[in-house]
Amino acid sequence: LEVIASVEPRIAEATRQELADQRASLKLIASENYASPAVLLTMGTWFSDKYAEGTVGHRFYAACQNVDTVEALAAEHARELFGAPYAYAQPHSGIDANLVAFWSILAHRIEAPALAEKGMKNVNELTDEDWEGLRREMGDQRLLGMSLDAGGHLTHGFRPNISGKMFHQQQYGTDPETGLLDYDAVAAKAREFKPLVLVAGYSAYPRRVNFAKMREIADEVGATLMVDMAHFAGLVAGKVFTGDEDPVPHAHVVTTTTHKSLRGPRGGLVLAQEEFASSVDRGCPMVLGGPLSHVMAAKAVALAEARQDGFRTYAQAIADNAKSLADGLMSRGAKLVTDGTDNHLVLLDVSGFGLTGRQAETALLEAGVVTNRNSVPADPNGAWYTSGIRLGTPALTTRGFGGTEFDEVADMIVDVLSQTQPGTTKAGGPSKASYVTADGVADRTHARIDEL
Ligand code: PLP
Repeated sequence: LEVIASVEPRIAEATRQELADQRASLKLIASENYASPAVLLTMGTWFSDKYAEGTVGHRFYAACQNVDTVEALAAEHARELFGAPYAYAQPHSGIDANLVAFWSILAHRIEAPALAEKGMKNVNELTDEDWEGLRREMGDQRLLGMSLDAGGHLTHGFRPNISGKMFHQQQYGTDPETGLLDYDAVAAKAREFKPLVLVAGYSAYPRRVNFAKMREIADEVGATLMVDMAHFAGLVAGKVFTGDEDPVPHAHVVTTTTHKSLRGPRGGLVLAQEEFASSVDRGCPMVLGGPLSHVMAAKAVALAEARQDGFRTYAQAIADNAKSLADGLMSRGAKLVTDGTDNHLVLLDVSGFGLTGRQAETALLEAGVVTNRNSVPADPNGAWYTSGIRLGTPALTTRGFGGTEFDEVADMIVDVLSQTQPGTTKAGGPSKASYVTADGVADRTHARIDEL
């Protein structure tokens, strides 16, 4: 920090403050974690200064021999860890990984057969007219993914996102009674819509998915199954999700982030079955430019960590702790979407406390409990105010919390929320943002956090 402070002291101070804040509060954001010192240090090296567009051994820049080592190792660890035939370590983030996946599916399913029919290898060989026709055909394809309010991600066909604009899209939801995925309803929608891409995976669905069933649905309608395991990759790596719950043997293409339950640097990965490997390998130049070599190095370190035996214990503890948190909340009268969890996250419906997600999020934050507001299925308060709070266990599990601590966390959450009332707008009407927490509650919660 001293070196940074000699150039821009405000950045050094913000960095120091970030560490202090992360230590003084309870990090329950389901997509966050604490990467190891080895991972953090690997990101701050000279690889940051290197350009390396291309693939291992086939670069558009000179002197990439060390980046080749790094990228090959990251891919090797990913293949070994997940049992995947092919891995691509270049995507800068989860969204980038999904874009690489979408475009490689289009390249494999639409572009390659069109070129093969003409005996060509490269789109540059097409006439302008044929190229226009192919572009239109690619733009005419369909994607079916989980809706945002059921727990899907923006990139799964949400209209404001590019995935909802580059594809004709439809979305599947969850059963209105149980909040659970209804595979028969997904199948019925797929039969009617006939998507090229069926996306499975989620950001805020508190249950496991049967990927074998999703593959059956994809096969029946001729779709490519793409699973976005960004949130639960750590549970797959740690063998908590096996058999039908492990997406890797069932999906054609799997994408993930490396920084959530997998506990690596911020970044993305794509895994694929052999038939999609050569198209995914063209992520650069299809979607990406120069890879972040320093981050790929940190991915290799994090994946090596995840291959150690201790990671399985960690992954199991994530799931056990989520259950303790869910049980602790429900035993104190809180309402959870799907009445529980069997993954790493809990979706708490705060309407039972008379609050919006926004009010609950800020009241908890003031007390030192960091969560994020989240829509619940068919949310009456929309995506901004919401009616839910999403809670995840990966970060605090890294800090060594177990069932007893998570029960205490549940108690603090219920204490804060039950002592918080909605505020009023300036005009005196009911507000969806402001709130009043009873005196002393935030202070006593901070004191309890200090004790943990
Ligand atoms: N996919 C899923 C399921 C996610 O939850 C997220 C992030 O929250 C992403 C993709 C995007 O990841 P990133 O923020 O790294 O682009």
